[in-house]
Amino acid sequence: MLNIVLFGPPGAGKGTQSELLVSQFGLNHLSTGDIFRANIKSETELGKLAKSYIDKGELVPDEVTIGMLKSEFEKAGDAKGFIFDGFPRTTEQAKALSGFLQEKGTDITLMLALEVPEEELVNRLLLRGKDSGRADDADENVIRNRIKVYNEQTAVVADFYNALSKFNGINGVGSIEQIFERLSSAINSSNK
Ligand code: AMP
Repeated sequence: MLNIVLFGPPGAGKGTQSELLVSQFGLNHLSTGDIFRANIKSETELGKLAKSYIDKGELVPDEVTIGMLKSEFEKAGDAKGFIFDGFPRTTEQAKALSGFLQEKGTDITLMLALEVPEEELVNRLLLRGKDSGRADDADENVIRNRIKVYNEQTAVVADFYNALSKFNGINGVGSIEQIFERLSSAINSSNK
């Protein structure tokens, strides 16, 4: 299986690039942010809980997020592989993910980490907030808090995969096509 963690700060382009990678490599896409938003829309208990964190730009607690990811992963059934987008965001989540995958006799193949300067992230998110309908993209304070949370709690996840020689930093500045090309070549060279 080809299991990819698509990593990077908010606004790095994970969602956009995931869609392209899914069609190119025939993978299943699991985005914890998308799953939370679907739950918020359908007003489930999980959605109500997640909203209280998401609206402030904080992480939803590990226990809740890991449980949800596990059940979505199991629902997905057989697949060529997965793109994990927005997960793991903590070292606890990374460890749990390896556990689920190892139970199925597989593991993470590689982490692709999109690298984008902070001011560009803020500009991209403010622009996206004009039509994404996402409350967490519309308020600059929430955007800055999401980046702070990324730096303080999530960036360390890269060290976890680096220690396993699975980390690949990718320049996340350029056109969508250029960035997709960089990601695809990193995948192709890891598959050789
Ligand atoms: P995203 O769509 O990946 O930008 O996620 C939107 C928001 O959902 C984040 O700012 C967090 O509040 C929450 N979220 C998404 N994925 C996770 C995760 N793996 N762990 C904790 N919170 C998450």
